[in-house]
Amino acid sequence: MKCAICGIRVETIDEAVEGGWTSYFYDGDKEHEFACPGCSQAILQVDDDGEMEVKEEFRGKMKYLDDGLEKSGEDNLLMASPC
Ligand SMILES: [Zn+2]
Repeated sequence: MKCAICGIRVETIDEAVEGGWTSYFYDGDKEHEFACPGCSQAILQVDDDGEMEVKEEFRGKMKYLDDGLEKSGEDNLLMASPC
C-alpha cells in the first residue's frame, strides 16, 4: 500500500499498522486510503466522530495519489465505519 499524500510505500498491512499508518481519512466528502505517520501528523486531525480528516487549512488543496471515493457511494460499503 502507499500513502495517498506523499506516495511512500510499505509492503504489508502489518507493517503499516505497526508503523502507525492511518487506514483511511476524509477530505470533505472524499475518502482516501492510507496515510503514512508523517503525513497523518502533518495533515490530519481527528474529527468529532473520531474519524481522521484533513485539517481545515489543507482541505480541498491537497493533491492525492489515489482517486478518492465518494463518502456515500455504494462501493464504499467495505470501508464503512464500525458503528
Ligand atoms: Zn505520506
